[in-house]
Amino acid sequence: MRVTFPHMGNLHISLKAMFQTLGVEVVVPPPCSKRTLSLGSKHGPEFACLPLKLNLGNFIEAYELGADTVVMAGGCGPCRFGYYAQIQQAILKDLGCALQFIVLEPPQRQITELLVKIKQLAGSRSWWKIIQALRFGYRKARLVDEIERVALRSRPREKIPGSTDAAYRQALDLIDCASSWEKLTAAQEKAKEIMDKVAVDFSRQVIKVGVVGEIYTLLEPFSNLYLERHLGGLGVEVHRSIYLSGWVNEHLFHGLAKGMGSGKEARSASYPYLRHFVGGHGQETIGNAVRYARSGYDGIIQVFPFTCMPEIVAESILPDVCKDFGVHYLTFIMDENTGEAGMVTRLEAFTDLLARKKEAKEALSS
Ligand code: SF4
Repeated sequence: MRVTFPHMGNLHISLKAMFQTLGVEVVVPPPCSKRTLSLGSKHGPEFACLPLKLNLGNFIEAYELGADTVVMAGGCGPCRFGYYAQIQQAILKDLGCALQFIVLEPPQRQITELLVKIKQLAGSRSWWKIIQALRFGYRKARLVDEIERVALRSRPREKIPGSTDAAYRQALDLIDCASSWEKLTAAQEKAKEIMDKVAVDFSRQVIKVGVVGEIYTLLEPFSNLYLERHLGGLGVEVHRSIYLSGWVNEHLFHGLAKGMGSGKEARSASYPYLRHFVGGHGQETIGNAVRYARSGYDGIIQVFPFTCMPEIVAESILPDVCKDFGVHYLTFIMDENTGEAGMVTRLEAFTDLLARKKEAKEALSS
């Protein structure tokens, strides 16, 4: 069995660790690129959301490298994610790509439902080995998320442009390469050291923006046209509302790991505006926007794929939230035709507006 999976930000680091610990051969698809997108757009349905197209491109590229099995998450509820796997499988079959699919549906009641699926992949490996593999992969996800958080804080304050990104890549490589718990502990310390070495100016005035929206476009930089990096370069400290480890903990492990935060707080904050589940992270988008607004963030950015139903619902409510709290917001809808230069122009105008508003507010209060 040569297993592959979709790219979604740095997800491959933890999945690779998990499968390799289980002794399963892994084919990591090449990072998302224009080729990935054009393969997915060519063979995927025109109005499918962007993640379906990019994932389809990932699977085709992984198949070219010798993968024979796809492992991906499934979904339920009022959004198309629940039938991604079936559609992708049918398309790949028509294209002659012989890939079997193992879909990890979010467990409805017990984590054992998920473990049974994982056992299918693990074959004769013991349950102890499976639990160790899950723990190891999850540990890497948490470390990667921590590095991402540090990078978001340091990018707008770095003294040498590009130094955060260079350190970020080095730190991630260290975590990725660690093949045992001991090596991972050493890699964690080294990664922290590397990130701490980035020269930053904490006295610099930065704008604080909360980024909300659909999980894939939040986590996969290629799909959001490197939004976080552009914002950091414009002197913006980004707070991203979703991280991989938090999502895995909530949706696959039923919140088993404590202290990871969850969508619960976001959902309860959304109640005055949206009181029920609309699929995906639509309700969390509203709740997190409320939380950012309450916490005094300068602005909110919503990002989601073209035709994403849950986020379209959230988009229609977001103006009310922002009006009530007097906070500015900007929405980016991503598809294969969205241009990076156009997005940067809008970001420049938005951050300029936020900076002026912040200056005026400070002048009034002094
Ligand atoms: S949340 Fe949006 S982008 Fe994701 S699968 Fe559902 S409709 Fe598509």
